[in-house]
Amino acid sequence: MKKQNFDTVVVGSGTSAYFAVDGLLRHGQQVALIDERPFGGTCALRGCQPKKYLVSNVEAVALASQLEGQGLTIPPQTDWQALQILKNRFLEGRPEAELRQWQKKGVTTFQGRAVMSGTDRLTVNNTVLTADNIVLATGAIPRRSTIPGADYLQDSEAFLNLAQLPKRILFIGGGYISFEFAHVAIRAGAEEVTILHRSALPLKSFDQDCVQVLLTASRALGIRVLLNQEPTAVEMIDSGYLVHGKGGQSWEADCIIEASGRVPNLEVLAGGEGKVDADRRGILVTPYLQSVSNPRVYAIGDCAATGSMLAPVADREGQVVVANILGERQQSIDYAVVPSVVFTIPPMGSVGLTEQQAREQGLEFRSRQGSTSRWPSSLRIGEAEGFYKILIDPETDRLLGAHLVRHNATEVINTLALAMKYQITANELADFMWAYPTSTSDLKYMVR
Ligand SMILES: Cc1cc2nc3c(=O)[nH]c(=O)nc-3n(C[C@H](O)[C@H](O)[C@H](O)COP(=O)(O)OP(=O)(O)OC[C@H]3O[C@@H](n4cnc5c(N)ncnc54)[C@H](O)[C@@H]3O)c2cc1C
Repeated sequence: MKKQNFDTVVVGSGTSAYFAVDGLLRHGQQVALIDERPFGGTCALRGCQPKKYLVSNVEAVALASQLEGQGLTIPPQTDWQALQILKNRFLEGRPEAELRQWQKKGVTTFQGRAVMSGTDRLTVNNTVLTADNIVLATGAIPRRSTIPGADYLQDSEAFLNLAQLPKRILFIGGGYISFEFAHVAIRAGAEEVTILHRSALPLKSFDQDCVQVLLTASRALGIRVLLNQEPTAVEMIDSGYLVHGKGGQSWEADCIIEASGRVPNLEVLAGGEGKVDADRRGILVTPYLQSVSNPRVYAIGDCAATGSMLAPVADREGQVVVANILGERQQSIDYAVVPSVVFTIPPMGSVGLTEQQAREQGLEFRSRQGSTSRWPSSLRIGEAEGFYKILIDPETDRLLGAHLVRHNATEVINTLALAMKYQITANELADFMWAYPTSTSDLKYMVR
């Protein structure tokens, strides 16, 4: 076995690792970076970025379709194969370019699976890497079901890379990935799109009034959203696949995508030699992202039992871990204001407390809410469904939570998050001279 020593070894080359390695290099550290898959991680190669190629295409189709007969005649249609070429052009060569970029900056890179083989070391291929600090940035992987026929199920990555769009697609799980992909599939021309969700509440971390509006919009498009339905087995039949449900029902599909959640990827801890404690939420860390059981080890991004599994959270953890490793000052992260978005059409955005959470916490609040479907900004683009809900602390006039489902919710939620974070009051938002008429200028009517 070869042996090499570094200041810091980082496992995983996703977005959290990017910020960590970049920061450590700026401080002159000798860094090793390992990934078993192509360099770049989930967001860039298998998540946010390729997904947005598909979403942007169907957004254009949707906007034109909404105005069919109202000033537009022939709405465009998705050319799935051409769209795949466009998306793949963005992805091609990225991992190699990233690898070269790190190497040019002096990072020692390894391609292979790393396993902690001691409290201060990792083994990758035939090399043992020792380090003062080890940063685990190993991300998450799709939760896999164990029902009979589970081998027929495909994951989100397979959906992103479908060479042809199947006619009948069934999604298992009512989370954001299923909803986003179902909207892509139906707008791109799939004939039958079904989501099976095992409870009565899909998208459960979002405001349920907004979710109801999204369900109405999804069903109006022809997406079958079936609640309280759990698959028990899948079999291959002549015409595709047959999914059996708990209540005796069954559904046929040409392609089944399992998107019932993501779980931390903890293969790096196999064998337990690293003495790094973890549970089903991920690697257990202090508020400073340091392992609770092995002070040499830090965990960031989706593999850490910290905030939501989202790219901006991973980025921030990557930045903060640098300060904590270098010991300049101990930094922790405030996870209270993290906006999140479901890229459906209309899209849904959320930040802060939901109404239910505010009630559970016994907080006083005034709620400004209502439909936006008759607002000029919705009418002029033919958007049939839209809703907002803003929770405001009556004493301080600050926002406790904000929830939107309508066009541009993806951008407006960021403005609301900024207002929450920097304690801009509802009245200040209402008084501000927003460029007009824009989706953000509609905030005036939402907060007062
Ligand atoms: C379909 C999809 C859509 C998404 N959309 C959004 C979105 O719109 N917005 C958003 O904010 N987030 C989105 N996410 C989530 C986002 O992609 C993740 O939160 C983010 O990528 C996590 O980054 P990370 O650095 O923690 O891990 P990752 O980017 O997952 O990187 C982890 C890397 O570690 C490597 N690795 C793991 N174990 C080992 C090992 N033992 N040895 C060597 N290498 C190893 C893996 O190969 C991987 O490349 C999406 C995710 C998916 C799957």
